[in-house]
Amino acid sequence: MTEKSTTKSSGTKKMPVLFVGHGSPMNAVLKNDFTSSLVNLGKELPKPKAIMVVSAHWLTSGTRLTCNDKPVTIHDFYGFPNELYGIKYPSPGAPEYARMVERWVRKAQASCDPGWGLDHAAWSVLYHMYPKADIPVFEMSLDYSFGEWRPRPVQYHYDLAKELLPMREKGVLIIGSGNIVHNLRTVDFENIDAKPYGWAVEFDEKVKASLLSANHEKLINYQSLSKNAQMATPTLDHYLPMIYALALQEKNEKIKFTYEGIQNGSVSMRCFQIG
Ligand code: ZN
Repeated sequence: MTEKSTTKSSGTKKMPVLFVGHGSPMNAVLKNDFTSSLVNLGKELPKPKAIMVVSAHWLTSGTRLTCNDKPVTIHDFYGFPNELYGIKYPSPGAPEYARMVERWVRKAQASCDPGWGLDHAAWSVLYHMYPKADIPVFEMSLDYSFGEWRPRPVQYHYDLAKELLPMREKGVLIIGSGNIVHNLRTVDFENIDAKPYGWAVEFDEKVKASLLSANHEKLINYQSLSKNAQMATPTLDHYLPMIYALALQEKNEKIKFTYEGIQNGSVSMRCFQIG
């Protein structure tokens, strides 16, 4: 397709899909080029009926969904300024849409989990995009039940994500929230503007090129993308949400980078929009 969005007979516009590199929770209270790009997205995108966030910070046995009417704000980090722990994102939940996903997904047994709410992969981003917190939000987890607490293979997540396509037609904005490069061992926590490592830049650029050529295969087999793949993504939790967004790219749908850059030396903040 070459059009930006299609209109179904119901009048609901097919929603674009986002991948957001969320980075440090500090971005929730900062104003920088990255947070401005989120503010702009919130203003420019068609208003969603609901938002579904695939979170790098919710790792579960099996695939889980939040189905609460009023999801709680989870402050899932330690050692940050008090200001961050005071933030609440009081958006309503979206149980009817979450139940839809529960019914539609065949690849996995996606099920509602009352024990979770909105972690910072969701709220630190939505806080800028939709500050009124008036759009219903739910989360989807990443299945880490492969062997001894490892993620299922990337291809599995890609195939599962494809089943979420009808949600776009229902007016749901799907956001994968993670980071393409995310190496916590090398992060400079003190300096958000730290000079990026060469290997971080190189891997981020390789991913960018594959995104631009819509080479999904290469991105699924990310380890063959670069000798720096292991350094850039020593764990898959932050890479996989990008795979969910990618899998929802339909034939001829363009990709647009809404932000690019590296924070804290080794965290790629690259964000993109599909559709
Ligand atoms: Zn994170």
